[in-house]
Amino acid sequence: MKGQIGLIGLGTMGENLALNIESKGFPVTVYNRTAERTRRFAERLNRAAQIIPTYSVDEFLDSLEASHRILMMVRAGQAVDEVLSVLTRRLSPGDIVMDGGNSFFRDTERRMQNMAKVGIHYLGVGISGGAEGALKGPCLMVGGPEDAYSLVESTLTKIAAQLEDGPCCSHLGPGGAGHLTKMVHNGIEYAFLQLIAESYDILRYGLGFGIERVQRIFERWKNSELSSYLMDVAAAVLGESDSDTGRPLVDLILDKAGQKGTGKWFSQTAMDLGVPTPTIDASVSARYISAHRDERLKAKTLLHIPQGEFTGGDENFVDALQDAVYSSVIISYAQGLALLKSASDEYQYKISLAEVCRIWGGGCIIRAKLLDQIRSAYVNNADLPNLLLDASVGSLLVNLQQNWRKVVVEAKSLGLPCPAINASLDYFDSYRRDRLPANVIQAMRDYFGAHGYERVDKEGRFHTEWLRD
Ligand code: NDP
Repeated sequence: MKGQIGLIGLGTMGENLALNIESKGFPVTVYNRTAERTRRFAERLNRAAQIIPTYSVDEFLDSLEASHRILMMVRAGQAVDEVLSVLTRRLSPGDIVMDGGNSFFRDTERRMQNMAKVGIHYLGVGISGGAEGALKGPCLMVGGPEDAYSLVESTLTKIAAQLEDGPCCSHLGPGGAGHLTKMVHNGIEYAFLQLIAESYDILRYGLGFGIERVQRIFERWKNSELSSYLMDVAAAVLGESDSDTGRPLVDLILDKAGQKGTGKWFSQTAMDLGVPTPTIDASVSARYISAHRDERLKAKTLLHIPQGEFTGGDENFVDALQDAVYSSVIISYAQGLALLKSASDEYQYKISLAEVCRIWGGGCIIRAKLLDQIRSAYVNNADLPNLLLDASVGSLLVNLQQNWRKVVVEAKSLGLPCPAINASLDYFDSYRRDRLPANVIQAMRDYFGAHGYERVDKEGRFHTEWLRD
């Protein structure tokens, strides 16, 4: 037996994808840098499984069918370059290498160009769904040469999550289009997680609810317009108790959020392209603030918070909070998709945002009921520069704004941080203003730096001699 697909990297994702690919009838050859991990994986396999464990790159390549189809699932960054440098020496023109990790899309571009020089097809495959998705059907966002995609399409579409309107797998464009889309997905994921965490904080420490009550609220929200995979996860984690102490597990988990870099890349790319994405930026920063725990502990004794009392009226306020979270989630998608559009234009990827919303509907971490409406907006207007300019999304936000404001005002008066809800409302309020105070910034820049300014009443560029006698 020869493997039809070769998989390198047996971490959480690699293992589960190997099992998924095999379950769809494709024999898989697997290899991992550390042999022990391969051995442990092989021991757990059913005897009949068409999975071939190998212990060297040579053995790996020899046990694959002649036209090599390889999926790398290794840590993003230098590990990908290291694996590629070993592989390329043994690959032949026409072979296909797919990077299924969370690589930065510009790195994928570079690697694709280098591989093309030696005739090897390279695809950047953004994969979302975590361990369960990898096993049962992830969302696959593919970028790279279309002819190479057509050679692996039947495998990728079979292993992806399946929806009524097709598999959650699509060739989204050339170059780094797939990994760019995955980076945007992760940026939205950062915001979604932060928004849920902020609502927990407000319910728990603003309204003083016990964790069981917060959990019941999340159970309700997960069946509302907020219906989404992450709301399901939120309700599930709040319901978990620690087996040693019997206490709610979240109470025992240290409040320092980790990250692997995709959120930071999102914000960096947004800054590079001049696309405002403050909700996602705030969510990335919130993780950094959480990581500075020692400083926070010192600051607690120095920086006193207002001794306010919650004035909001419980259940009405819970409904208001639900609207605030929902509005802010919409804003997060709006910012993410605005960046995706801008980057797609900049790099000429021609990514269809409607198709992105379709495949995000299943398998991935940010799947949500809301995506149907967002998708319709881009079906109606493929060139929509911002989701907020869609009439139905716009009017939805207009109707929600009163509750959204109420939550921000209440949280601020209590000294409770809600950076993502707050940044979302500020984004909404800035985006809908016909006149921002940037005129004052321009005047001051011209005063101290002679940067010049434009005028509302005449064409051209102007400068004022501000320091006249
Ligand atoms: P990890 O990110 O922890 O990566 C571990 C794998 O990378 C192991 O197989 C490890 O091999 C291999 N590796 C690390 N460095 C090297 C190297 N220098 N040379 C060769 N192999 C190396 O595992 P995951 O399965 O979580 O993730 C794999 C990829 O998928 C990552 O890019 C990740 O960001 C992405 N991803 C992860 C998701 C998740 O939910 N976990 C979801 C979507 C994407 P060894 O055993 O020898 O250390």
